[in-house]
Amino acid sequence: MDLIDPYGRTVRDLRISITDRCNFRCTYCMPAEGMKWLPRADVLTYEEMRRLAAVCVGHFGVDGIRITGGEPTMRAHLPVLIDKLAQLVVPKDASSPRAGQPIDLAITTNGATLRLIADELRDAGLKRINVSLDTLRADRFAAMTRRDELAHVLDGIDAAIDAGFDPVKVNAVVQRGVNDDEIVDLATFGRERGVEVRFIEFMPLDAQATWDLSQVVGQDEIVAKIAEVYPLEQVPARGAAPADRWRYLDGRGTIGVIPSVTKPFCGDCDRVRITADGQFRTCLFATTEFDLRALLRNGATDDELAAEIRRAVGTKWAGHNIGNVAFVRPRRTMSQIGG
Ligand code: SAM
Ligand code: SF4
Repeated sequence: MDLIDPYGRTVRDLRISITDRCNFRCTYCMPAEGMKWLPRADVLTYEEMRRLAAVCVGHFGVDGIRITGGEPTMRAHLPVLIDKLAQLVVPKDASSPRAGQPIDLAITTNGATLRLIADELRDAGLKRINVSLDTLRADRFAAMTRRDELAHVLDGIDAAIDAGFDPVKVNAVVQRGVNDDEIVDLATFGRERGVEVRFIEFMPLDAQATWDLSQVVGQDEIVAKIAEVYPLEQVPARGAAPADRWRYLDGRGTIGVIPSVTKPFCGDCDRVRITADGQFRTCLFATTEFDLRALLRNGATDDELAAEIRRAVGTKWAGHNIGNVAFVRPRRTMSQIGG
């Protein structure tokens, strides 16, 4: 019943992208103009998403689902989807530590409109939120996201805390020469607000394909910069979680670093993904997709969907090759896959 890939890793975590659209145009993700959106008819309905999620949970003991995009809050009636997914329970006989419990349901958002729906999301059963915030300077925020929305995002983070989400985390992509001078400021922000800041190494999934290694600020450098100001000790045992974590020695919380480029964690990867148009992917960087939408819309049974998912996971590779000559950029970019 477990979903195990050819390298012995058990799939536990599903990322569902619910839209490819976004109200921001972050330079490391999208071009300023000219993104081609999926036709609406190609995007899965909430009921189709619930069905695929239920197959992953019910057949394979997947115990965590993260909703992402594009910007998930761009989809109308998001709490309706949250309500459907929050009801999924990990089967009692699953080998997951969450067997018999509701799935761990989380969302990643840019936070711009979070103030408007934080309470509703909480009432619908959402437990955890990650808000993306790469800079605390309004002019730089406008340059990085191409939108003048810093105040709304900060307000959204406060709204998530006020609504009782625990934990609230902040995702910050660090780019050399762009915002690497704010690493300590972002850490300070996290300490003051009681949120864990997770620094993300810049990955080659930008729509403009300008990524190169020189723009990546690696984990060691990020941790060293913070530790100079706020002494840190590493929190042991990451398991399958993508972030390595450190705690402040003065007890003022933790930070995370997602070292996708300098210290890939592929060996522990337990994730699979479904794009907004219902394509199943075994890796962010996968170059092959499996068309679950076609199966769904052609009347496939749950067992047939599960068989296709198992077949897909049977092709999962050992890991991406970022930085090596063998690396091939996927056809779709971050917002089209779902980060
Ligand atoms: N729109 C939402 C947001 O920004 O939080 C969810 C989707 S976004 C694609 C998910 C995460 O991917 C965000 O934290 C974003 O900063 C990150 N991201 C986007 N492009 C990236 C890149 N090229 N390298 C590393 N992280 C990236
Ligand atoms: Fe939109 Fe998120 Fe991509 Fe920024 S990172 S453009 S907010 S999808």
